[in-house]
Amino acid sequence: MTYTIATIGSHSALQILKGAKDENFKTLAFVLRENLEFYKNYNFIDDFQVLNSYSQLGDLEKKFNPGKLIIIPHGSFVAYLGKDFDNKTSFKYFGNKKILAIEADRLKQDNWLKIAGVLTPKIFADLKDVDRPVIVKAHGAKGGLGYRLCPDKKSLTKAVASLKKEKFLIQEYITGTPVYIQYFFSAIESKLEIIGCDRRYESSIDGLGRIPAAFQKELIGNPSFTVIGNFPIVLRESLLPKIYSMGQSIIKTSKKIAPPRGLFGSFCLETVIDGNMNIYAIEISCRIVAGTNLYIQGSPYADLLYDKPVSCGRRIAMEIKKAVKINRLNKILT
Ligand code: AMP
Ligand code: AMP
Repeated sequence: MTYTIATIGSHSALQILKGAKDENFKTLAFVLRENLEFYKNYNFIDDFQVLNSYSQLGDLEKKFNPGKLIIIPHGSFVAYLGKDFDNKTSFKYFGNKKILAIEADRLKQDNWLKIAGVLTPKIFADLKDVDRPVIVKAHGAKGGLGYRLCPDKKSLTKAVASLKKEKFLIQEYITGTPVYIQYFFSAIESKLEIIGCDRRYESSIDGLGRIPAAFQKELIGNPSFTVIGNFPIVLRESLLPKIYSMGQSIIKTSKKIAPPRGLFGSFCLETVIDGNMNIYAIEISCRIVAGTNLYIQGSPYADLLYDKPVSCGRRIAMEIKKAVKINRLNKILT
């Protein structure tokens, strides 16, 4: 196979590159100098390009682009290269760069999900209209850092005042269980798959339940939602058909949102499911999510679809392999 699958060494790189090697691709990792020794432990990574800083990646386009290099974008791309990198780079990405730009904008995301008929938490344009517990999200807040939970008007007024000139969003707080649904849409086969499900392990919010109520307020007045890891989830089977049709509707509407190709490849719907089994989508990620790292040997859902261990990274490589075979690579790269 003459193509090389490459990504930045962080987030879900191990899974992506292992999956690529399992499907017989050459693999390359862009790693920070200080992380090289760690990544060298893994014999499924054929080559390394050492970076002194992530921003150097842009300078390497000319070196690699004439070759057959396919980049798999993941969460570290936006986190370390900024939201504009995806659209400016001439690197060939697996996935649709247009949809990544929509993913970066909370209001556009919300609009898309609504068109798709997916429930989303109410957004309050004006502080005066707030009549329920809310979560205040500063624009650009990452991984829950910079979120403020406001159970009442008093705490809301305080939270908003503390943000000063920062832009923010006031969103209804949904009491329920967080569920992250990992999907894969094959543009080659025109088929949607549920490939896994997880929840996040977040600091400090997930530590709150371990201390008595009397200490909770004092110790963690304003909890953070910094993601530390993930737990696996299997869902009530009766939820699966609903979740599947939500995914289908998201794919269908994405073609209007980012025409003509819309969303394809790996994506994740971050939901909170309330006590009445209403599924609220909090966010959509239109690339591989790190929760899929749980399932390097395949999730219970991937097991039902394949007769070999298929991680999300491997599923991506399988799609690329198929596209190469039938000469349709242009359908899944942008
Ligand atoms: P990292 O390269 O680990 O710093 O992660 C890059 C981005 O992906 C950050 O915005 C993280 O919050 C997010 N991220 C990393 N790991 C996870 C995870 N296990 N679950 C959810 N998000 C994650
Ligand atoms: P995220 O911005 O998607 O990384 O969210 C960080 C955490 O905040 C996750 O645990 C979400 O479940 C939680 N969260 C975000 N928005 C809401 C909301 N509107 N209602 C309830 N939980 C939320």
